[in-house]
Amino acid sequence: MSRNPGYLWSGLGGETDPPCLKTIKCKDTTMQLFDWLRKILENRNDPFASYIARVVLPVGIAALILLIPFAINNFLKGRIGVGIAIVLVQLLLLVDVLALRRGRKPPFHYGLVVVPMIVAMLAAVFNQGILGALWGYPIVLICYFVLSRRVAFLFSLVIMAVLTIAIAIWIEPALAVRIFATMLLTIAIINIVLNLIDELHDALVQQAITDPLTSAFNRRHMNQSIELIVEQGRRHPPNNTLLMLDIDHFKQVNDCLGHDVGDDLLRRLVQTIKGRMRKVDLLFRIGGEEFILLLFDADVTQAAVAADDIRRRVEAAELLPGQPVTISIGLCAQRAGQAADEWIKLADTALYQAKQRGRNRVEIAEHLTEYNHL
Ligand code: GH3
Ligand code: MG
Ligand code: MG
Repeated sequence: MSRNPGYLWSGLGGETDPPCLKTIKCKDTTMQLFDWLRKILENRNDPFASYIARVVLPVGIAALILLIPFAINNFLKGRIGVGIAIVLVQLLLLVDVLALRRGRKPPFHYGLVVVPMIVAMLAAVFNQGILGALWGYPIVLICYFVLSRRVAFLFSLVIMAVLTIAIAIWIEPALAVRIFATMLLTIAIINIVLNLIDELHDALVQQAITDPLTSAFNRRHMNQSIELIVEQGRRHPPNNTLLMLDIDHFKQVNDCLGHDVGDDLLRRLVQTIKGRMRKVDLLFRIGGEEFILLLFDADVTQAAVAADDIRRRVEAAELLPGQPVTISIGLCAQRAGQAADEWIKLADTALYQAKQRGRNRVEIAEHLTEYNHL
């Protein structure tokens, strides 16, 4: 049985990590930490961003109600500063909540609501000591639900710092150290969980747009992508070309060699096509053995060269041992103001022509007589 080095050195018989392994582990942890920080600061795609309004409404209403007795208590006990800060938080929340309930954009940025919360917390620490510090934890949590990830991270670090300093000065340093440690742990846990959600979100999005067999994009993503390009084509003169590709006599492959070999051929075909694509191009599987390849910033002539190269590469790739595999391609350049289905139909007509004219060839929609009548 083989053991990995981590297991071998994991204290069996009292051994400790050798120095080289310690260095590797340390590097790994540092890399992870940097990766973790990069993810937060990049703010690449904040999965929560579109849910902020939905979170703010119930959280705002709950905070509004919950803070009422605290505001009254502070005024009654003569802690006017804390009372005023709480009322300010409530007023800002009330205005935002009312706007959200009417389906409008909240007038106050949520960061503005968090600032008096921090002030109220500090005033409470000053007046009531450790009892006031307890508010730091929910305020940090609220930041992550109502602010963008990057801003929330910044706010949470600020809250941790001011709270630690305030406690060190007003209460005692030993307590400040503990507050600092528990705050840091809380912030770390929130960020780890949010990073996980981020990764799951990415994986789900990827799954939703990918064909599981070939890992090309699926038909749904094709519809969305082409609609977007068509929309852009209404504003700027387009220079994109659509290729429709289809394996010749694919049914025979299935019939003679079996469905699994057919599946494998589809996978290998996609790899061959991807080998000739640029990073910006998009490949979609739109049906059994039919694909659409979108070439961006490529006119008919450039696309025809690329299409013929792909066709020749597939023919030369020996995708099935001892049996030639060929594809036919129909291509059509995007016209300004042209609807998506019309564009696809023209490429499909060109593909049909390629099949009619003997397969293993490229036909260009612009060269067909019907093209100018459409
Ligand atoms: P042509 O040259 O005219 O394109 O002929 P063809 O045989 O390639 O086309 P046809 O439309 O007659 O057959 C397509 C076949 O693709 C039929 C279907 O069984 C097969 N097919 C569809 N989806 C899959 C799949 O996911 N895996 C496999 N292995 N076969 C599939
Ligand atoms: Mg076919
Ligand atoms: Mg077909």
